[in-house]
Amino acid sequence: MTPPSTTTDSFSDGVLKEIKGRVSSDQFGSWFERVRFLQKTDGAEVSVPSRFHRNYLRERYLALVEDAISTVLGESPGEVTFIIDESLRPAMTELKPQVVSRVANSDPIPLKQDYTFEEFITGPSNELAHAAALSVSEQPGVAYNPYFLHGSVGLGKTHLLQAVAHRLIEAGMENILYVSCASFTNEFIAALAHSDVDRFRDRYRQADALLIDDIHFLANKERTQEEFFHTFNAVYNLQKQIILTSDSQPNEITGLGERLVSRFRLGLVVQIQPPCLETRVAIVIRKGKRRGLDIPLDVAELVAKRVCNNVRELEGAVLRLDSQVKHEGLPLDIKNAQHTLSDLLGDEPQRINIVHIEKTVEKEFGVSLAELHSKRRSRSVVLPRQVCMFLARTHTRSSLGEIGLHFGGRDHTTVLHSVEKIRKQVVADPGLRKSIERIENQLLGR
Ligand code: ADP
Ligand code: MG
Repeated sequence: MTPPSTTTDSFSDGVLKEIKGRVSSDQFGSWFERVRFLQKTDGAEVSVPSRFHRNYLRERYLALVEDAISTVLGESPGEVTFIIDESLRPAMTELKPQVVSRVANSDPIPLKQDYTFEEFITGPSNELAHAAALSVSEQPGVAYNPYFLHGSVGLGKTHLLQAVAHRLIEAGMENILYVSCASFTNEFIAALAHSDVDRFRDRYRQADALLIDDIHFLANKERTQEEFFHTFNAVYNLQKQIILTSDSQPNEITGLGERLVSRFRLGLVVQIQPPCLETRVAIVIRKGKRRGLDIPLDVAELVAKRVCNNVRELEGAVLRLDSQVKHEGLPLDIKNAQHTLSDLLGDEPQRINIVHIEKTVEKEFGVSLAELHSKRRSRSVVLPRQVCMFLARTHTRSSLGEIGLHFGGRDHTTVLHSVEKIRKQVVADPGLRKSIERIENQLLGR
């Protein structure tokens, strides 16, 4: 570990600032306001006001603390030790009632401050999911009930769910229940064990809004499914909003009872897709801005072209760029970025190329390669050709000109027009969306 290059206080302030960006202001006030960090030669020392405080931090926030320390150091946090320093306790006169979040939350992961609508970047892949979440937050229990949001990991389901919770809190709703399905299950089991099921039921069935994350966790848990079925009915019959997220659509959750499947399909079911290239670029730039980092467009594109299927991984890349700039003092250009991200990005070339794309489109749409390359403009050829251009633009590094040349010698404005047209049509046309999904799944080997 490098010797301290900063003064103690700025180290402590740096770590606290890092933590502040990752927890709610209530959490920060309760658990971090009175904590100090000291950089040691082989790690970091955390001073806390009490044993209780120490135990709590260790149990709930250790990973976050270590992560914040390593972000500031730009390397592994080393050993993190806790010491109790009574001078950090507040004087009696300072004591004031704790502000508690109104979200009745039994989950150790409470709302994240930046999981808001404002911080959510939209594009064709998630526009619908975003719009539906927004209207649910404006008219809970009215617009779409239940709202069932599904998609693979790291695409923003939890983000949108929490964005709704933030809005409902702002609107003054009090009894919002936001929990992961795992928490629901564990709580239920604990309630059974303590013969306390009535209280558990009251709590859930009186919710003004019920937001359950990762509902696929119910798979094969018959007793909990039974309980959730009644919870669902009670809340639904009172016309209170229910939102559920899942890794797959209701009828594809294996081991989920038929009656729950049909309940889940009562309202609106929306899939969230991996973001397209432009959206990924926008996300990279925004995540950089949040860290005070101006990521140049070419660097953002480099990241976005390599990391395709998971926004969380995009964030990981931004974090590295951030530490490259702040701790190594390297300017943020393509060369340095490539170096910093080399293990993340891998040196392998893009797996997908235009030839893969056109072959897959050929099969999906039943047109021949010759037709795709031709200048023919009949509808049956134009659409698949435009889909090829759209996919080539999204998944390869080919320029507009290259793509145009490949498909019948068209100029770059024609390509741009085609890409835009499909981008819009995908939102409006579920049939086309399905086709493109199928093609992408094949291309990405899913
Ligand atoms: P999921 O619940 O679908 O697995 P998350 O909601 O946890 O995914 O999202 C993973 C990370 O990516 C989060 O930090 C989230 O803020 C971020 N993220 C996902 N989609 C977007 C988006 N469209 N705009 C901004 N950030 C996003
Ligand atoms: Mg999630």
